[in-house]
Amino acid sequence: MELYEYKAYELSDMLKSGEISSVELTQSVFDRIEKTDPTIGAYLTLNRESALFDAEKIDLKRASGDELSPLAGIPIGIKDNISTAGIRTTCASRMLENYTPVFDATVITKLKNAGAIITGKLNMDEFAMGSSTETSYFQPTKNPFDTSCVPGGSSGGSAAAVASMEAVMALGSDTGGSIRQPSSLCGVVGLKPTYGSVSRYGLVAFASSLDQIGPIARSVKDAAMLQDVICGHDSMDATSARRDYAPISGKLNGDVRGLRIGIPKEYFGDGIKPEVKDAVMKSVKALERMGATVKEASLPSTEYALSAYYIIACAEASSNLARFDGVKYGYRCENPENLMDMYERTRSEGFGREVKRRIILGTFVLSSGYYDAYYKKAKLLQKRIRPEFDAAFNDVDVIITPTSPFEAFKFGDKMDDPLAMYSADICTVTVNIAGLPAVSIPCGYSETGLPYGMQIIGRSFDERTILNTAYAHELDFGGFRSPVVSCGEVEL
Ligand code: GLN
Repeated sequence: MELYEYKAYELSDMLKSGEISSVELTQSVFDRIEKTDPTIGAYLTLNRESALFDAEKIDLKRASGDELSPLAGIPIGIKDNISTAGIRTTCASRMLENYTPVFDATVITKLKNAGAIITGKLNMDEFAMGSSTETSYFQPTKNPFDTSCVPGGSSGGSAAAVASMEAVMALGSDTGGSIRQPSSLCGVVGLKPTYGSVSRYGLVAFASSLDQIGPIARSVKDAAMLQDVICGHDSMDATSARRDYAPISGKLNGDVRGLRIGIPKEYFGDGIKPEVKDAVMKSVKALERMGATVKEASLPSTEYALSAYYIIACAEASSNLARFDGVKYGYRCENPENLMDMYERTRSEGFGREVKRRIILGTFVLSSGYYDAYYKKAKLLQKRIRPEFDAAFNDVDVIITPTSPFEAFKFGDKMDDPLAMYSADICTVTVNIAGLPAVSIPCGYSETGLPYGMQIIGRSFDERTILNTAYAHELDFGGFRSPVVSCGEVEL
């Protein structure tokens, strides 16, 4: 077995015991990237030299007997909307093609303090707007299970890199499903943490009230390990929650006896592929056999959630993206005639179609005369969704749904039909609107070997219960299935 194939928790032990060095591991991951990334296209920027340099420093520290974090020496990829000092951060947009931040996002500072090795920056939908990574200005990213299919989005580069073993783990961001949906389509574990538990300082804002950074990994234990490092209060983020964050990794035992699982019928309706529903319910039955109890739950506002999400997200995006005006940083058009011409052409040329669509939609729903009809209604709905979850959590400990209504789809399938693309988020957006934590975990495979994902939603700040439920499922269902085994046709 090659080093890049191991899980983070295994590598952590191997590094600690001195069986392997971080330089060997980092080298192995970069060899893998060199071999497979021309096919997959997960990376936009590689950080090879610094990574090997940092790995050597960690090896020396370990040799001198320093007490190190479990993440020390582990190579991790970063979605390209998270600021990395000295490493280009593009948001997969022409607007930021040549932008190199001078500061690290708080999550990056935390990773560096833990001794993690940054492999590079991962492809995504432009400014995290999309569900297939096809809106990236630079390149498509292929699904490692079938390269004619999308990896999902917007953290498609992160999920594909982890699935193709071009990174041991990765960070993604999730505004309406962008960690969970690509994780589902690429057969990996993706955690969207509770809003406020991971600092957003240094995350390029899409919709600030919904955005959250989180881990993507090949095992539940790995995701827990990464979450333990990145969570915590940060005074640089005004929405960061001040509380105790008890470590989760090391506490997972897969014991679900007495756990109450809620199944909301609204998430098992017509739009969801029958095979996906079957795979999820089969996994729920298995959890029941392990001692959990299953009951029906009701979340009646679900049918309006997607509309509310696209109104709120676009409204916030239209405001957040106003800063890209050709003045402060980023792209500026050639030879502007005057200030207005500069603004207009900079933004017309710098942003792609989907981003422009959302800015226009967001500006529309916030404009006088339409504000009450759209934005205000969406916000009222948001006020209803959270109490509905709270009521459901009076009777159950976790809520289980499909993550995505369908498995990975072909390139181009949904690009000309925004509504079809938006429907990919039907099961995930409510969780962001309510600010809750949720994890997606593989729960089945289609006839052609494409993964299905199951979403486990929990109470605010109860990442531990959803991860423990996911861990129980993982023990029963089996861990990460590598694309080489299940697909076979792609020589990776
Ligand atoms: N796919 C959703 C969208 O396009 C979610 C994006 C995200 O979570 N960043 O808005």
